[in-house]
Amino acid sequence: MEEMRYVKEERFDVERIEALKHHYTEILRLLGEDPAREGLVKTPERVAKAMSFLTQGYEADPLEIIRSATFREEYKQMVLVKDIELYSLCEHHMLPFYGRAHVAYIPNGYITGLSKIARVVECFARRLQVQERLTVQIRDCIQEALHPMGVAVVIEASHMCMQMRGVEKQGSATTTSAFTGIFLSDHRTREEFMTLISHRYR
Ligand code: ZN
Repeated sequence: MEEMRYVKEERFDVERIEALKHHYTEILRLLGEDPAREGLVKTPERVAKAMSFLTQGYEADPLEIIRSATFREEYKQMVLVKDIELYSLCEHHMLPFYGRAHVAYIPNGYITGLSKIARVVECFARRLQVQERLTVQIRDCIQEALHPMGVAVVIEASHMCMQMRGVEKQGSATTTSAFTGIFLSDHRTREEFMTLISHRYR
C-alpha cells in the first residue's frame, strides 16, 4: 500500500460519468462530428470528468471550510488576500471566465487561515456562475462565518463567452465588487483596500 499514497486519486461518481459520457457522445454527433473517429473516442469520457471536476464546488460547504479553521484573535487591522487565481464557468454559455479575486476583511475577534479564503473562492468558482453572484457569495460566506467588522471582495475576470464570440475586445476584463460593514460606511477603509489591490508589481 505504501506506494499507493502518491498515486493521484481520482474520485468520480461512476454512474454520473457514464450518463454524462452518453450525452456528450450525442452532443458531438449533433455538432456534426463523428464520435467514433480515433481522436474523439475517449473525448466524451474526458469531457465528463473535466466538467465534473470544474463543477465540484457543489459538493463542498464553503461555510464549513472557514469554520473548520477559525481562531480567536484580537488583531483588528485589515487582512487582505490578493491575486487569488480564479477559474469558473459562466452559467449562460458554460464557457470559462478567469481572473483574480481580492478578498479583505477586518476581524472582530476571529480570524481564519489565509488558505481558507482562497479555498472559499475556489469552492464557489467551481460551480456554474455569473461573476456578480460569485463576488457576493464569497463576501456573504466570510461575513456569516467570521462576523468581521467588514468584508471586501473584488473580482477581475475575462469571459471567454464574450471574447471568443467577439462581443468583448481581447484582454478586456470585467470588474465586480461587494462590500459589507466598515468597507461600506467608511470610504477611507474602502479606499485603502482599493489602493492596496491596485498596486501592480509587474
Ligand atoms: Zn457567458
